Amino acid sequence: MAKPVVAIVGRPNVGKSTIFNRIIGDRLAIVEDKPGITRDRIYGQSEWNDQGFHMIDTGGIEISDDEILKSIRAQAELAIEEADVIIFMVDAKAGLTPADSEVANILFRSNKPIVLAVNKVDNLKRIEDTYEFYSLGFGEPIGISGAHGLGFGDLLDAVVEKLPPEVEDEYEDDVIRVALIGRPNVGKSSLVNAMLGEDRVIVSDVAGTTRDAIDTPFERDGQKYVIIDTAGMRKRGKVYENVEKYSVLRAMKAIERADVVLVVINAEEGIIEQDKHIAGYAHEAGKASLFVVNKWDAVEKDEKTLQQFTQKIRDHFLFMSYAPILFVSAKSGQRLHKLLPLVNEVSESHAMRIPTHVLNDVISDAVVLNPPPRDKGRRLKINYATQVSVKPPTFVLFVNAPELMHFSYERYLDNKIRNAFTFNGTPIRIWMRRKS
Ligand code: GDP
Ligand code: GDP
Repeated sequence: MAKPVVAIVGRPNVGKSTIFNRIIGDRLAIVEDKPGITRDRIYGQSEWNDQGFHMIDTGGIEISDDEILKSIRAQAELAIEEADVIIFMVDAKAGLTPADSEVANILFRSNKPIVLAVNKVDNLKRIEDTYEFYSLGFGEPIGISGAHGLGFGDLLDAVVEKLPPEVEDEYEDDVIRVALIGRPNVGKSSLVNAMLGEDRVIVSDVAGTTRDAIDTPFERDGQKYVIIDTAGMRKRGKVYENVEKYSVLRAMKAIERADVVLVVINAEEGIIEQDKHIAGYAHEAGKASLFVVNKWDAVEKDEKTLQQFTQKIRDHFLFMSYAPILFVSAKSGQRLHKLLPLVNEVSESHAMRIPTHVLNDVISDAVVLNPPPRDKGRRLKINYATQVSVKPPTFVLFVNAPELMHFSYERYLDNKIRNAFTFNGTPIRIWMRRKS
């Protein structure tokens, strides 16, 4: 299910990025620990009262226009296009400015739920400074202070209250949901066409759960698939052309709805930071994934090229060593026949259930081979293991003392489980529960 989107809009210097960082700050710290997953200063995720959402700081989106007003307008339009709720931010210290009114005019015509936040209300005296913003016509302004962390509860309450209700995805369980992710021009559309093939069985273009997402369902060799958000993939409005980075958000929403993510890389161009970022998101979201290196026809090759490119992907995506790599050409058709079978395979791994007794045999053998760590005379004891869910496969180990588990031992068990059951192309998760 795709999470809703909250965008922050406002003229420069009102404190948008300060607030953005505060709201998503805690979660980022966790993500940053992992190698290869980098922080994005424009997109983030957060949650409030158990409601998860994406955030965009539109001020951070660089739009190639020197004129500030034009740039503010474009940012507001992006927010209107993408967000479910918009935080319109103004500045109590500076007061109401013509640029604020300009933003207000654009937002007013949008029909999107707007929450008006007056930042820099650093102390009670400043509350009075919020009154003049009533005239913007968005109801009661919520006073906040990014500098002092004040008012965030009220702000987020107001935001979450205005979020649309979550909609269940409409596809049956036996349909494999596939998202193709990658920069413009890597060949996503060409790959989709190739997958659909000559004898394509397109039922219809179905409007997805996400506003303006168009999915393409098809069937091949008795297996049903749907390619998620192909419209978003093809959409190249004028704003989009200017703001390539903006497509990250679309990618994230597609990933959330997918079972299998195809990370498409252009063999001619190699890997960039944004590829890592998006792949990292697929990993975090627990999706099955595979790397599709496209345009392999256009690369000059010798006997080492494939090996070198493989190594490059492994080096860049350390956290996704489980994802298979396929070198293809949408143009010549090279190895395209392997694509859907590989999608099937990783999808099967993603949904695989291991019988409890077999799982416990594997864990017991692993423990005998390499005993768990001990600390201050106490040794970790694994009593029992069970798989609690699929997509991704998630295991719970009942142990005497979870704090005795080491990262390296967890990785060892992860490997043992992986190898015993060939979990190809899917992350697996292991949780620890105390039970003596
Ligand atoms: P943006 O351009 O809207 O993203 O604004 P920034 O987040 O970069 O903030 C602009 C300036 O306002 C920075 O110098 C911040 O330190 C300052 N600022 C942000 N929030 C507050 C606040 O609550 N109170 C005060 N006094 N200054 C703030
Ligand atoms: P998208 O933006 O990721 O959807 O990429 P497209 O499918 O629109 O392809 C972008 C360009 O790359 C087009 O001109 C395609 O003809 C070209 N292209 C796609 N796949 C291949 C390929 O395998 N080899 C070569 N040489 N060109 C390709």
